[in-house]
Amino acid sequence: MNDCVFCRIVAGQIPSTRVYEDDDVLAFMDIGQVNPGHVLVAVKRHAENLYALDEAQAAAKLKEPDDKVAEAHARFRLGQHLLRVGQADEARAQIAEATQLHPDSWAMWRQAADKDARGLASGPAFWTRVDALGSKPYYPRPDIA
Ligand SMILES: [Zn+2]
Repeated sequence: MNDCVFCRIVAGQIPSTRVYEDDDVLAFMDIGQVNPGHVLVAVKRHAENLYALDEAQAAAKLKEPDDKVAEAHARFRLGQHLLRVGQADEARAQIAEATQLHPDSWAMWRQAADKDARGLASGPAFWTRVDALGSKPYYPRPDIA
């Protein structure tokens, strides 16, 4: 019996919210959502480490983000770091730039929203965007080849 948590998720022995699946990989919602929409992608065959796919296999499965999206993610992570170390003004500037570069990212946009007393995203602009979603999901399907 393989007690690897990822193999058990792939086999359906541990419940998960699957958002994408093909012969090689399974993408599912992370149970520890750091940001809403956080998805984990697991290789279906068991692997001992992070290097389950060789470079060619990884390139065939995972698309490189374009330069704008890559910069947006870098600025977003920098903004999160700056928030943690108390540099809120510079953090907000980095996160705002990230949301301009990658406007479809719910996580970035939510982080840039005003916060209520509990620290949750709030404010008229936030709720206007949420309301505009209607019945559409707030996160896009992961772009996995
Ligand atoms: Zn495994």
